[in-house]
Amino acid sequence: LLKVVDVHKSFGNTKVLNGVSLQVDKSEIVVIMGPSGAGKSTLLRIMNYLVKPDEGYILFKGEKLSDDMRVLRQIRSQIGFVFQHFNLFRHLTVVQNVMLGLLRVKKLSKSEAYDLAMNCLEMVGLSDKARSYPSQLSGGQKQRVAIARALAMKPDLILFDEPTSALDPTLVNEVHQVMKKLAADGHTMVVVTHEIGFARNVATRIVYMENGVIIEEGNPVDFFTCPHTTNVRDFLSSVY
Ligand code: ATP
Ligand code: MG
Repeated sequence: LLKVVDVHKSFGNTKVLNGVSLQVDKSEIVVIMGPSGAGKSTLLRIMNYLVKPDEGYILFKGEKLSDDMRVLRQIRSQIGFVFQHFNLFRHLTVVQNVMLGLLRVKKLSKSEAYDLAMNCLEMVGLSDKARSYPSQLSGGQKQRVAIARALAMKPDLILFDEPTSALDPTLVNEVHQVMKKLAADGHTMVVVTHEIGFARNVATRIVYMENGVIIEEGNPVDFFTCPHTTNVRDFLSSVY
């Protein structure tokens, strides 16, 4: 579905990605872990060309991402992105937030967009909050709205950048439950997270990065029980 091929990226003098290659197949749940500054967010942003690689390229369904805005818009409409800080519009209600992309990008009619948005809100357990504003929601609820918004676009791939790290620990689980449900429904997801429990239970593959390179990659059982590198062993002992 998605292929990142030998990507390099620097910001000024800082080399952030140093030859990263990664393939994501349909229905995989790839969890990216690694210390702060490893380049995880940059890699995620490269996947939908929010950040442009200096070298290397990205294929989505075999099509190369480039500056061609027509192609890029078309590809981006198939890739959902859920951010750490929700990025909801404050002046729009919950249902309006979910409808926005359906009206603007998918060009649905108001009633079609409304129906689909309500379905997605139901999926994340928030249909009763449709008329609330983001400021009236908890962090966990805001993030579930952001997930509903991504879902409404019927993406083939959803990217999550630390979706629970801004949340009060008591609210993490409700977001994980929703993500787990998406995984069970066969959605393809790439998730940057520090949450070991989620990675262990939901990931089909763990990718471990440090200093802009992938150090280790494997299924969660191997990764957590018998990591091959001291880097991963040290990382795991530091977060446990
Ligand atoms: P964290 O776990 O803290 O989110 P990360 O693995 O996501 O870390 P990145 O956000 O990808 O790391 O950043 C990697 C490095 O690139 C950091 O040193 C960061 O300061 C730098 N960086 C990221 N984005 C930019 C940017 N737009 N301009 C300049 N430097 C950047
Ligand atoms: Mg990050």
